[in-house]
Amino acid sequence: MKGEYKTKPRNAIIEYLKENADTRFTARDILKAVNADGDNLDRSTIYRNLERLCKDGQLVKYKESDVNATCYQYSEGHGSCHEHTHAQCVVCGKIFHVDNKHLKKAADSMKKEYGIEIDYSKTVIMCRCSDCIDK
Ligand SMILES: [Zn+2]
Ligand SMILES: [Zn+2]
Repeated sequence: MKGEYKTKPRNAIIEYLKENADTRFTARDILKAVNADGDNLDRSTIYRNLERLCKDGQLVKYKESDVNATCYQYSEGHGSCHEHTHAQCVVCGKIFHVDNKHLKKAADSMKKEYGIEIDYSKTVIMCRCSDCIDK
């Protein structure tokens, strides 16, 4: 195996994230997918890159009880995951990157009544998505 054919780990990971922007995935999914393309990345490289992408706000990380693993989802075209709220479908697990403007009114009235301020970046609203609403 010659090194020059090797894709940079970060690029390989982002490539996968873009293809799967609508779905949740685990570090294990990425490891499998990236290495299926002929790369030979180890688990710690994957984790390190995922952590960095989370820090950069390109990725949201959350705990998933049904698969008992940490899941990730890419925020393509939604801006930084530190600056908006997430909504998760309780049926299929899909994550939505929600603009804070939708919560502004509720946030303002909570501030008035309870004196609390929402930490948007840490807030996950449980919901049913349009595909699951009738289930
Ligand atoms: Zn997000
Ligand atoms: Zn759903």
